[in-house]
Amino acid sequence: THFGFRTVPEEQKESLVKNVFDSVASSYDLMNDAMSLGIHRLWKDEFVGLLKPGAKGPQKCIDVAGGTGDIALRILDHARERYADRETTVDVVDINGEMLKEGYKRFKKTMYHNTPQIAFREANAQALPTEQFPENTYDLYTIAFGIRNCTSVPDVLKEAYRVLKPGGTFACLEFSRVNNPLLSTAYDQYSFSIIPLLGTILAGDRVSYQYLVESIRRFPPQPEFAQMIADAGFTTGGMFEGKGGAWRDLTFGVAAIHTGVKL
Ligand code: SAM
Repeated sequence: THFGFRTVPEEQKESLVKNVFDSVASSYDLMNDAMSLGIHRLWKDEFVGLLKPGAKGPQKCIDVAGGTGDIALRILDHARERYADRETTVDVVDINGEMLKEGYKRFKKTMYHNTPQIAFREANAQALPTEQFPENTYDLYTIAFGIRNCTSVPDVLKEAYRVLKPGGTFACLEFSRVNNPLLSTAYDQYSFSIIPLLGTILAGDRVSYQYLVESIRRFPPQPEFAQMIADAGFTTGGMFEGKGGAWRDLTFGVAAIHTGVKL
């Protein structure tokens, strides 16, 4: 197509998730802000700040389930602003062409448009086509608020491990578990009543936002997810040395960052 997307065969696409994100694509950024009260921006800043793209020279990055490119833009800005690095690249991968189109439109307004620094590719995180995504390709693999939408988390991790170079980093930002019982009750109230209501008011779409809330509840808690990352072959926790644990909680565990290194 004129967006330069390469596509995977139709049968590999997961239609439910696709429909959800089709229906929310254009209102997605607004809804993100509304639902998280803008906090997702701070989490994303912290995520990319922790990963320091460009610190050790230009990196080849892949941002999977990259949607409208929130993480990709932060990676490129971080590398450029901190390290004057204009050679770091990000391949934004998403199963949903509508999300990628929004991302493409958005990057059109940036200095990265029409440069080798950014590319958008339509593909399934669980089965990245090997011709386009060969093994040992990337220095950094990011996935933000995307892995819980995938039907097989182990398959995603396996693919992440495959496409990363030895020494490369896997990093995931995802909704997680609030451990404090008091906060957890408030958070339940918020997510089960307010978010679907906001979905109805702002996007005219309750079902999709209800699905998003349920997908958060189904996703494994921090220690279990860390174990899955380790089971995929990654060394976990290196990034949080001295701070303990294989992950970092954000906002009391509403979200968490997990990392792993392919050795
Ligand atoms: N990373 C972006 C962000 O943080 O703003 C987008 C997150 S959005 C909540 C989740 C994205 O995951 C959607 O764009 C959706 O299309 C994508 N997605 C869901 N399942 C996927 C899969 N199996 N492979 C690739 N992308 C997928």
